[in-house]
Amino acid sequence: MIGGHRQHPSTVEELIIKDRWGNFTCMVCKMECVKHHDMVRHVETRHFSPGYGCSLCGKSFKTKRYLRSHVNTAHKATGAAATAAATS
Ligand SMILES: [Zn+2]
Ligand SMILES: [Zn+2]
Repeated sequence: MIGGHRQHPSTVEELIIKDRWGNFTCMVCKMECVKHHDMVRHVETRHFSPGYGCSLCGKSFKTKRYLRSHVNTAHKATGAAATAAATS
């Protein structure tokens, strides 16, 4: 990883660097791409994946595990009911 501070990016564009040759570089993993469309897609899927969305507040998480722990901590009050209803 390069750079110490890590801010949570709010937009896909924030993670895309365009160099003077017109190529695009992903700020997160330094992957290079010629097409902007592909770069956006890469960033969206790799670093912005909606993944698992919380049905209670709309937040999204990369993995089901993150989502579950989020629900348990952020929605503790309703967590029990939600867990009971979501038992699969
Ligand atoms: Zn990347
Ligand atoms: Zn939530």
